[in-house]
Amino acid sequence: MRIGLMGGTFDPVHYGHLVIAEVARAEFSLDRVIWIPAGDPPHKDHAVTPQEHRHAMVLLATASNPHFVVSRLEMEREGPSYSIDTIQHFQREAPAAELFFITGADTILELLTWRRHEEVIRACRFLAVTRPGFDLTRLSGVLPASYLEQISLLTGPGVDISSTHLRQRVREGRPVRYLIPEPVEDYVRKHRLYQR
Ligand code: ATP
Ligand code: MG
Repeated sequence: MRIGLMGGTFDPVHYGHLVIAEVARAEFSLDRVIWIPAGDPPHKDHAVTPQEHRHAMVLLATASNPHFVVSRLEMEREGPSYSIDTIQHFQREAPAAELFFITGADTILELLTWRRHEEVIRACRFLAVTRPGFDLTRLSGVLPASYLEQISLLTGPGVDISSTHLRQRVREGRPVRYLIPEPVEDYVRKHRLYQR
């Protein structure tokens, strides 16, 4: 069993997320990609949308892909969401499985800021997918060689969408059609998320 872990805040989930998860799944023959919306972090520079909304949007976005499942693990855990706890949970739950952590370029470039990153990098292979505006060729100057061995670089289609930008667009009343799946768009509208 080859399992991909797709962590994020997903506030809201968008096609940038979906496409990197699918590129990683296809290129590494992953049997399953587990989407793990982060819990509500106590300290963040902006107020994060309540986790039940973010979870519901990820469910809607991933429903049509039989390889994608959504986990409530980080939502149900007390305190801040650390990836090391999540990875160790799945190591215990599926000891025979091979774990792959899927990230965009911006996230892998910040790996040394993660809690217990020495253990994180030993516990699973990272699949780092290109993201416009973030230069993956810088990685060798940022991370030690032992870390680079555990990271595979993947070229995605380079979709320049971010949740930050989407929240701003909704706030300004501009369209988000074709940037997020339609059911997510309907959900945002129905629940009046990201309004002023
Ligand atoms: P925000 O602007 O709020 O930070 P975001 O769009 O960066 O939102 P996150 O939930 O922070 O989304 O990201 C979850 C994961 O998806 C991270 O590993 C991030 O690098 C990756 N990711 C997000 N958007 C893209 C994108 N457009 N292309 C490639 N990777 C992406
Ligand atoms: Mg981000």
